[in-house]
Order: sequence, then structure tokens, then C-alpha cells
Amino acid sequence: MNDNALPATPQPATANPAAARPTRPRTLDLQLIFSWLLADGIVDKTGVKAHFAQAQGILRNAPGGMHPLVAVAQCKLVSCQPLHRMMTLDLLSEWLASKVGLPFARIDPLRIDFTKVADVMSASYAAKFHILPLELTNDALVVATADPYQVEWESEIAKISRRKISLVIANPLDIAQYTAQFFTLAKSIRDANKTNTQDMALRNNFEQLVEMGKANKQFDANDQHIVNIVDWLWGYAFEQRASDIHLEPKRDVAVIRFRIDGVLHQVYQVPAAVMIAMTARIKLLGRMDVIEKRRPQDGRIKTRTQAGQEVELRLSTLPTAFGEKLVMRIFDPDVVVKTLPELGFPPDDARRWDALTKRPHGIILVTGPTGSGKTTTLYTTLKALATSEVNVCTVEDPIEMVEASFNQMQVQPGIDLSFSDGVKALMRQDPDIIMVGEIRDLGTAEMAIQAALTGHLVLSTLHTNDAPAAVMRLLELGVPYYLLEATLIGIMAQRLVRTLCPNCKSPDGTLNDDVWHSIGGAWKIPKPATIYRPIGCPECRQTGYRGRTGIYELLTVTEAFTQLVGDETDLHALRRQSVLDGMKPLRIAGAMKIVEGVTTAEEVLKVTAALA
Ligand SMILES: [Zn+2]
Repeated sequence: MNDNALPATPQPATANPAAARPTRPRTLDLQLIFSWLLADGIVDKTGVKAHFAQAQGILRNAPGGMHPLVAVAQCKLVSCQPLHRMMTLDLLSEWLASKVGLPFARIDPLRIDFTKVADVMSASYAAKFHILPLELTNDALVVATADPYQVEWESEIAKISRRKISLVIANPLDIAQYTAQFFTLAKSIRDANKTNTQDMALRNNFEQLVEMGKANKQFDANDQHIVNIVDWLWGYAFEQRASDIHLEPKRDVAVIRFRIDGVLHQVYQVPAAVMIAMTARIKLLGRMDVIEKRRPQDGRIKTRTQAGQEVELRLSTLPTAFGEKLVMRIFDPDVVVKTLPELGFPPDDARRWDALTKRPHGIILVTGPTGSGKTTTLYTTLKALATSEVNVCTVEDPIEMVEASFNQMQVQPGIDLSFSDGVKALMRQDPDIIMVGEIRDLGTAEMAIQAALTGHLVLSTLHTNDAPAAVMRLLELGVPYYLLEATLIGIMAQRLVRTLCPNCKSPDGTLNDDVWHSIGGAWKIPKPATIYRPIGCPECRQTGYRGRTGIYELLTVTEAFTQLVGDETDLHALRRQSVLDGMKPLRIAGAMKIVEGVTTAEEVLKVTAALA
């Protein structure tokens, strides 16, 4: 590498990739990079000398084989071009791609089928040339590199893979990191698969023997490869903020999917035999019966993130046509330390909710479909109420998160411990506040009412579309209206909407007047001057959204409202009255989140009904 001389004349790179690459042999060194930086005006004539010397120094002192772009990134150059962006390694890599006329790729580990791509070259080969195969299609192999001029491997790999090589430029540190990770993991899966296929016939017999004897339950679940794969899977799921991990056996292969911000993403396919062993390992850790595969089972695991934070996983298995399916729900350990504003409560609703939940007795209901965040709201609320002077008891199905300051009980239909039995038992435990997981039947509703009438605060959930409909639902179950009048103090409906990624959202969204009218129309909310739209960046996995927030419709039961509950209750009249009493319907709550630039009209329209 000739780094000693300063670049005299800028050598502009040609935009034509064919001309830029191998026909004209070049070396990607500091001299070339700085001549391009100068030509593009990223560094100016006055600064180039010092920066070049600095990068040269960094490179010289680096312990073995630093990529020149990494040295440039460490100089922390600020571009002389408008925007004056700091030239990070990502930005420099993207810039390099444009200079040599190749696409830039940010390596998304979730999109790479590493078992397939790891077959086209060995780990040492990839490491030697600093390349990483990313994608194998029928006619092409996509390979990431950070050195477009070092291509002596290209013809060889093209021949071996019998594919056309399609080069992309990626961040050199990413290439190094993922090369190490992928090949280790691919080897684990391959080795695990090898052992399993060989032992398959044997193992089937073995399992039958074990089943009869109910002895040694551990098969291959403790195989080091399987241990690695499961650890890696959890690490990835935590890193990607997944809420659920699905392990799904199919006819020939098995599929791993993550749910992120409410949407499922297929992550990997693994050989069926590997998944069987993974499932066995996870069941073992969850203290479930590993042999039993014909009945659904539940379990729980406590593990830690790389950062050392404790995470709780709830497991459930289900026998399917192709084998045992396992779902792991990941509980965000921060859930119970969140505040109402962090859950998306506007200040006014937070105040009203606080006032309601501080009442000494009565029933408060949270309604919404499964996955609308009801449990999070209840846990957050209870946690705030659970001081040392107060006995908070819950009866749940299942216990979603174990919290030390509550006394939690799990419903067990097998031994006739239903919600109503649970409440009955709790009542003898001198409770102050009772949380009932869900009111599904008259028996549970009656116990909840009984508890409220005897001076307890009862919180529970119901599946209804909006807050006023909860009254109709309880009447339908057969609860006498005068008991509702005597006990019900508040109802809240809620939904979750995805929030725009703060890193990439763009203020140039457009919104048709009719659409806005259907969202904020009846309330005459002026259309905001700025509408944000989702763009997509690596932080949000190109979806444009990152995280979710709640929208709430809070009904406080007033004297006027109870007057309307009777033998012939009219839902429309209930809605009108609750709005007069200060309730903002879900769609209006959503409109406010659009005005604040937190979410989009699409998200709000997806989860809320039109204003009645
Ligand atoms: Zn983004």
C-alpha cells in the first residue's frame, strides 16, 4: 500500500461499474479514498493533509489488517458538503458503493438464510477475502465485500456455486462480525442435523423405549450445537425487540418466526430434526414433560439478555399435523416500571384514570381484543397501587408476569379452580384490590360484583369493541342492571398502534381531506399542517415503524350515565352520554396521535371503528 504520498490530482471514479472494476486494477487504499473525498468536496484542500496524516497514523498503529475506511471513519470527518454530516463508517461505506457503482447493502441478519449461503464457501475462505455471502438465488449469489478491487475469488466461487456473482458493498466491520457469527451458527445447525439424521431411526425407537420407562428424558437437548442455537435464537429475539418466537414444524422443514411490533416476520428455516431438538431443549429448560407431545403444555423460563437484564419467557406447545409447535412469549421486564404517559396516556386521561383507580371500591373494566395491551395497563396500574399498606391479589389465566408485590393465583380448570372460585378464595385473604384476569361468565361477574359491594376495588377485562359496549355485554351475561349501577365506576377501551420510527419518519406526508374527515371529522379537529409518513431505515427494519403506543377511550360512570342503564338500555344513548362526560372515542384518541406526529392515519384506521 502506497500511503506515503499525498494524492496530487483527484482521480474521479467512473460511474460505470464495468470500467470501475477489475478491468482496471487498483488498490483501495487511503490515497485513493482521500482523492475521492477531495473530488467530492467532502474534505477541502485546507483540511485534506491533516486528515490524511491522521488516518495514516491510525492505520499504522492498528493491530493487523485494518480496512482503510475504518481508519477514515475513526478520524470523525465532518463533510464539507451541505448537511455537514459526520462521516461514519456506514456513511463512508455507502459513499464507497456509489463511487464504484455498486449497490450498498446493510446486512440484515434476519434476511439471510445462512445454512444455504454458508455452503458456498468455508469460514476461512470468507475470512481470508473479507467477504460474506448474503443470498443464493437460482442464478445468482450475492456477496458482500468492502473491497471492490480484490476480486480474485470471484471466478472461483462462481464456478463452485454455479451462479453469477452479484457484488454489493457493505460496512467492513459488519462483514467481519457477521462472518464470524454466521459460520459458527451454520456449523452448529449442520452438525446438529448430521447427528440427528443418523440417529433418527434409532431415536424414534429410543423415544418409545424412554416413553415406556419414563427414564432419561434428555436425548439431544443438551447437545452443544442445540444449546448454541437456542441461545443465539433468544439473543436475536431480544435484540430485535420481538414479543413472540414461533417454532413451527412444516412438512419438510421447520420455520422460525418473530413477532415484532405486532407483525410476524419469518426469520429462518431450519431442518425439521434440528427444530425437534431445539423444542426438546426449550421444554427441558421450561420444566415441561419432554416426552409428552400429544397434549398442549405450558411452561416458563427465566433467562438474561446479553446486557444482563432478566427476561421471562412463557412457553406453550401445541400438537399440529407436522409435529409439535412451540410459541415463546417474551415479557418485557420494563413493563411494570412504565408510567401512564409512557403507555401513551394523554395527561388528561392519565389524571382521570388515576382518580378512578384511587377510589376505595367499585369495578373498573379494561376492554379490547386480545393483544391490545390490556394486561400491560392493568399491571402498570396495580404496580402503582401496590404499596406496603395495600394487599393486591390477582387471579389470572395464565399469570402473564410474576410480580413480587402482588399475590397472584393461576386459574386451573383441571382442579376446578375457575375465575369465580379464585375470587371466592381471594375474598378470604383480606384483599384490598383484586384483579380478575377476565370476566367471561355470569359466575365471575357475580363474584366481582360481590367483591365490589363488600368494599374492594376490582379491576378486570372484557372483550368488547368499545367502552360503552361493556355495559351491554354484562347485561347480556345476566347481571342485573341495578347491581351494575351500584358497582361500576369506570370502563376503558384500548388499542395499540405502531409508532413511527423517530429515526426516519418524514414530515412530507399527505392526507386526503376525506380521510381526515373520517378520523377527526365529527369533532372538527383541524387537519395538522404536517403529516408524517413512514420511510424505513435499519433501525426499524425498513418498516418505518418502531414500537407501539396505546390509544384509550376512558368512560367514567356518572349519575347521568347510570340513569340510562336499565331494563332497556340503548347503546347509542350510552355513547352520547359518555362523550358528554368527557370520554374521547378511540378514533379521536388516534387522531390526536396523528396530530402529534406519533403515528399514521393507516394505523388508526386499522384498529378503530368509525365514529357512531
Ligand atoms: Zn426507521
